[in-house]
Amino acid sequence: MASSKNNTIKLKFDSARKYAPAPESRSAAKINARYDLFINGKFEKPLSKKYFGTISPSSEERLSEVADANAADVDKAVKAARQAYDRYWKKLSGAERGKYLYRIARMVQEKARELAIIESLNGGKPIRESRDFDVPTAANHFFYYAGWADKLEYAFPNRQAQPLGVAGQIIPWNFPLLMAAWKIAPALATGNTVVLKPAETTPLTALKLAEIIQEADLPPGVVNIITGAGATGAALVNHPGVDKIAFTGSTQVGKIIQNAIAGTPKKATLELGGKAANIIFDDAPLDQAVEGVINGIFFNQGHVCCAGSRLYVQESVFKQVVQKLKDRLETMIVGDPLDKNTDIGAINSKEQLNTINKYIKIGIKEGAEIYQSSAELPHKGFWCRPTLFTNVAQSNRIAQEEIFGPVLAIQSFRTDDEVIEKANNSPYGLSSGVWTDKGSKIFNLTTKLRSGVVWANTFNKFDPTSPFGGYKESGYGREGGLHGLNAYVKLV
Ligand code: ADP
Repeated sequence: MASSKNNTIKLKFDSARKYAPAPESRSAAKINARYDLFINGKFEKPLSKKYFGTISPSSEERLSEVADANAADVDKAVKAARQAYDRYWKKLSGAERGKYLYRIARMVQEKARELAIIESLNGGKPIRESRDFDVPTAANHFFYYAGWADKLEYAFPNRQAQPLGVAGQIIPWNFPLLMAAWKIAPALATGNTVVLKPAETTPLTALKLAEIIQEADLPPGVVNIITGAGATGAALVNHPGVDKIAFTGSTQVGKIIQNAIAGTPKKATLELGGKAANIIFDDAPLDQAVEGVINGIFFNQGHVCCAGSRLYVQESVFKQVVQKLKDRLETMIVGDPLDKNTDIGAINSKEQLNTINKYIKIGIKEGAEIYQSSAELPHKGFWCRPTLFTNVAQSNRIAQEEIFGPVLAIQSFRTDDEVIEKANNSPYGLSSGVWTDKGSKIFNLTTKLRSGVVWANTFNKFDPTSPFGGYKESGYGREGGLHGLNAYVKLV
């Protein structure tokens, strides 16, 4: 009986994997062999005279090389931003600033296909995600904040919102273009100028955005985009000409930044790590919940600070849910990020793959039971099979620490109080998810879960109008929505 069921499932899975390849053409994406630093409206050679290669994590092919900005380059970029701020940007009316933002938003839409291809090539995420989520959401952020630029008096009634000055913005590799939009759009709408540094493994869409900004005729120096690794980021954080730091990345680097700016007048927003709990009650629509959990952790290979990397399932439906998850895992297609059928793309870098594999080994050593999909992995590039752990204890490292990969730690629970305690027993507090048929249960949990976002009967939904940010070691400050404007102004 069991074996005939397994055969049926196997047949179903084999046919799922046999979709003919449907790769997006690379020809629509123009990637230069080399990129300089975007400072004062021009691409300028780095004073450091150094460049480093950037690859595709799915093939390890070198795509381009980008400048490695040193402290002198950072200084040049900050000075350009200061000059642009003093000379024109702070004097420009909100309506004029809004026009530039609308123009950038429209150009991001016009170049959506090219941006999506480059995002998938350089970052490893499936084209379906970069095409349907990252790029349109990036454009929406520019549209949304363009709308606020001339309405700040309504955003802050009876107060005057003044810009802070020069914003130093440092972003990670999981949503390169979207994070750039999240940071640049509210800063510009409120009259600040910007020096942005993308992550060292994914600089290419930010540099494409620099080309868009140049084509949009934004006054020189209002947005400067410089590339480099941690040392470049640190030079930006420590530069005395920077008034505000906006950082998204690891809690470890967030703490370094927090220490570096302590005692200075610099303002900061820090969006750091997470270990989100997804909670399934026995009255939830289980298929929908399983799909939400799958989306929550395997979306973008688990490279999401708010990834639902812990799952709590009510005891009476535990076995059923775990089986549904295993079945669903087998149908997921892991492979070429440019293929439109791909569900799970490449891990962003070799270092990140090593971290994920280290945690998988830790989970096994801690006594948890592992289940991985049997998907075949490509030979070149950095790959990880979607992975589930059951028999997990709350104190296990795989249930406590951020893995940032497609690895889900599953536990059971009996009562509401028990699951609230377990979900809150984490150093992080960025997001969580609740799956139940009962509105009262949703309200009970949303008020008691200590996380910046609680999704109910859905997961990983983003909208420019709603604020996002964390509790505890997930950072402070909010980005998005009206709250996102607040982080870039002083109110007088
Ligand atoms: P992740 O672990 O997600 O790679 P990191 O926090 O290491 O996240 O990196 C996020 C961003 O922070 C990247 O752009 C990286 O270059 C930058 N960064 C790394 N170290 C520092 C630092 N000491 N100061 C400022 N920025 C840094």
